[in-house]
Amino acid sequence: FNTDRFGQHILKNPLVAQGIVDKANLKPTDMVLEVGPGTGNLTVRILEQAKKTTVVEMDPRMAAELSKRVQGKPEQRKLDIMIGDFCKTELPYFDVCISNTPYQISSPLVFKLLSHRPLFRCAVLMFQREFALRLLARPGTALWCRLSANVQLYSKVDHIMKVSRNSFRPPPQVESSVVRITPLNPPPAIPFEEFDGLTRIVFTRRNKVIRACFFGAKGVIDMLEANHKTWCAEKEVMMDDSTTFAQKVEAILVETGMAENRAAKMDIDDLLKLLAAFHEKGIHFS
Ligand code: SAM
Repeated sequence: FNTDRFGQHILKNPLVAQGIVDKANLKPTDMVLEVGPGTGNLTVRILEQAKKTTVVEMDPRMAAELSKRVQGKPEQRKLDIMIGDFCKTELPYFDVCISNTPYQISSPLVFKLLSHRPLFRCAVLMFQREFALRLLARPGTALWCRLSANVQLYSKVDHIMKVSRNSFRPPPQVESSVVRITPLNPPPAIPFEEFDGLTRIVFTRRNKVIRACFFGAKGVIDMLEANHKTWCAEKEVMMDDSTTFAQKVEAILVETGMAENRAAKMDIDDLLKLLAAFHEKGIHFS
């Protein structure tokens, strides 16, 4: 039984399992999505509190075990089991997501949830401690990074509890934390690819000044210029060739007062201000 292929560390501590489900504040009318239910230690507790639960489980043996666990019980008709890779699954409607998944899919999990529509109410998710701390990090602190900014643009993240390795069988290598992600509703009208395109550039060297991130890294200016040309062509706008493209970028950085800033200390409003200044000049990041 290869537990590592699917990152199968079963949550054995009943207090932690109940704590995770309770922190989701489920209502009897809720539709819940659970990712990676394993043998169902969270699932049986969710079923007690919600109207309907859809689980997505990649390992058919786990799915069979869960199915057996509810067989013939009243909860059986409230449970819908989908077998497959969460990352490739078309998600049903859900109000709340609860998950203890393998840490390899932490990032895709968060971004798939945040791009899902209609928006869910909240997600209670178990992550490797380090990943959770990066989700929670504030500007100016050591762990503030592209992930922090990208997630906090669209949601509020709260730390719920620390979970020790010993709560799992077999115990994983690392400590864990449970966080709650609450999407901002309505979501900010910023295309993810654009914000992500900017944070990719400025956080690659997060302690370097913004000017160096744009001009010091190979290919950044060329990429932006190519995007700008495409944009001008699509909008049938004449390209302004009174200055070079690099000079246009430099002017934006100076005018916004961001040229000497460092991403390590910029908050989401600073990043949005910078993005808006580029967009105003028809310069796009995706
Ligand atoms: N949630 C259970 C618990 O708390 O005891 C099991 C946790 S175990 C860390 C992760 C579970 O996610 C395993 O059952 C594994 O088979 C499943 N899994 C792994 N990758 C998956 C994926 N891409 N999509 C859906 N399920 C996945």
